[in-house]
Amino acid sequence: MDDNPVVPGVEYLVTSNSTAIDFAPSAQPAHPTGQPIIVVRDLVHRYQDRTALNGVSFEVRPAELFGLLGPNGSGKTTLFRILSTLMVPTSGSAMIAGLDAVRQPGALRRHIGVVFQAQSVDLKLTAYENLWHQGHLYGLRGFELKQRITEILTRVGLLDRCADLVETFSGGMQRRIELAKGLLHHPEVLLLDEPTTGLDPGARRDLWQYLQILRDQERVSVIVTTHLMEEAERCDRLAILNEGNLVALGTPEALTREIGGDVILLEARDPQTLADRIRNKFQVEATVMDNQVRIEIENGHRFVPDVVEAFPGEIQSLSVSKPTLEDVFIHRTGHRFWSEDAEAAPEAGKKKVKKKRS
Ligand code: ADP
Repeated sequence: MDDNPVVPGVEYLVTSNSTAIDFAPSAQPAHPTGQPIIVVRDLVHRYQDRTALNGVSFEVRPAELFGLLGPNGSGKTTLFRILSTLMVPTSGSAMIAGLDAVRQPGALRRHIGVVFQAQSVDLKLTAYENLWHQGHLYGLRGFELKQRITEILTRVGLLDRCADLVETFSGGMQRRIELAKGLLHHPEVLLLDEPTTGLDPGARRDLWQYLQILRDQERVSVIVTTHLMEEAERCDRLAILNEGNLVALGTPEALTREIGGDVILLEARDPQTLADRIRNKFQVEATVMDNQVRIEIENGHRFVPDVVEAFPGEIQSLSVSKPTLEDVFIHRTGHRFWSEDAEAAPEAGKKKVKKKRS
């Protein structure tokens, strides 16, 4: 991982004893307004003897759409709970808007809106009533509250449905009401835990459009946890987690550019022998993953005829593709995002990854 070429936009992680992570200065310019809105430093969390976060550090800039990408069990929810002040970390710190999540949780909560995976809307109330009660929880009252509800329902495109019971809404519309609840008190930061779970593709696209609008028009910093590559690709920057470790940090473009060139996958009867022979003959790194030989190489299209000619009859099929975030994950961890034995890996996620390669 440390012999990668320096790529603009990728923030290089320097680890010591595999826990503490420090940052070299980002090659990407800081946000013009200056200070980061979220600063996470050396965050560690243990559940009894299980380490869920193993010294995670990163910063989020104002008006940034920031993704926490990782497979199941990588620590996303733990990090989300710490940022939303629901859990105290074992060590390290998380600051939002200059406030410490452990020492100043009450003050910090005024600066964040939180959308949990589990539904929090009351289906038996109207959209307006849901927001009215939420507003009261934040001490909003009277005309100010009415005005804000109108504003926020307009923002999520549901003002015309304000008097309808939420149970009559589609899944996507219910999620937008969740979003509106999280935004009612004008937070600078919106935290969303896997917000598109259970939504159809159209509703997913809509939700992401709203998140982009929030970032651009209200200058809200949006932090989204996801295990979906296509969602991660929509983020301005990403922190990629694996088994509690931060394995990559940067823009999706810079992270994939870091791999450089192409990814070649070869199928053969004996992939291990083929990989060994390719390494010996061409001095390229060839690894075996899921019974395929995998090679990261510049100008893959030029390498393909050479390798086919060098080993006649041994290669059953091959593919050449541009690197994806899945390749970034493999590059950094040495294994696939969804391994066959990953706990409860959703089928959709698995298929998505494999489809990109077929
Ligand atoms: P993710 O959200 O990425 O799936 P989590 O933060 O839920 O990851 O989990 C990180 C690790 O911590 C996993 O190994 C998980 O099994 C473990 N873990 C999560 N919650 C608890 C808990 N309440 N008690 C014990 N272990 C937990």
